[in-house]
Amino acid sequence: MRNSRPEAGLRSGNPKYGAGVCDFCGEPRPLLWRCRRCGFSVCQVCLSQDQKRFSCNAITWVCPNCLNWETL
Ligand SMILES: [Zn+2]
Ligand SMILES: [Zn+2]
Repeated sequence: MRNSRPEAGLRSGNPKYGAGVCDFCGEPRPLLWRCRRCGFSVCQVCLSQDQKRFSCNAITWVCPNCLNWETL
């Protein structure tokens, strides 16, 4: 049941962003970034407020849970 379309929707597969609850602030958000390695989710608010922690530079961010680099 693998969906090979790259734009297959936010709820299928393991997208790098989607709606859900931010693992950092616990707030439900319409858009959050997701680590594809461990599933850690962080919203844009946390990402922009804590850019040093996430090493966020508008291109990439680092998952604080598993130190996996993800692109925005
Ligand atoms: Zn958040
Ligand atoms: Zn991770």
